[in-house]
Amino acid sequence: MNKSGLKKHSSEIVKRLEAEYPDVKCHLDFNSPFELLISTVLAAQCTDIRVNMVMSPLYKSKYRSPSDILKDGIDNYRENIKSINFFNNKAKSVLSICEALVNKFGGKVPDNMEDLTSLSGVGRKSASVILGNCYGKNDVIIVDTHLKRVSARLGLIEYEEPEKIENELKEIIPADDQFYFSMRIGEHGRQICKAKKPDCGKCILNDICPDAFKF
Ligand code: SF4
Repeated sequence: MNKSGLKKHSSEIVKRLEAEYPDVKCHLDFNSPFELLISTVLAAQCTDIRVNMVMSPLYKSKYRSPSDILKDGIDNYRENIKSINFFNNKAKSVLSICEALVNKFGGKVPDNMEDLTSLSGVGRKSASVILGNCYGKNDVIIVDTHLKRVSARLGLIEYEEPEKIENELKEIIPADDQFYFSMRIGEHGRQICKAKKPDCGKCILNDICPDAFKF
């Protein structure tokens, strides 16, 4: 499909996903950019449900700011998050993030891609999650496993590398729609276009999907 065909195809997908998932929300619970940043780092290779279960009480009771975590120290932090996968390395990343937030950013979570990705364990995907959910930036694409899989099946992307996928999608989806497109296609991937057995019969995109009913 040429660029103009892809733009039309993606525009139809954006429209239908918006109608299907109007109130899409982040699956991680948070009350501040700080909480979402930390939970996003902890959620790598772990379920959002587990991270919410462990972190929600901790944010309320003791970890309201980066200084709280630094004051408590790595040993206590590690102990408190030990039911989360890879807690040891994640605890190190979180402490390093808290140090950087306090020392370089006045205790605040940065609101731009460059500063966010300078933090330990924060890649473009996590940074985009923060920018979209906390700072209202619409021109971000969250390249996670769901977006990759569903976009490929829908014929929107050719590449496998996250940065190339980000660029491909940014070329065909208007800047204002990019964040919500990411959230909604992710939701579609979780609910319908699952990795092993996509439910094409129930899919609102099955008449325009090149991979419909192929699995
Ligand atoms: S038609 Fe099937 S493969 Fe295509 S997006 Fe829908 S669920 Fe996924």
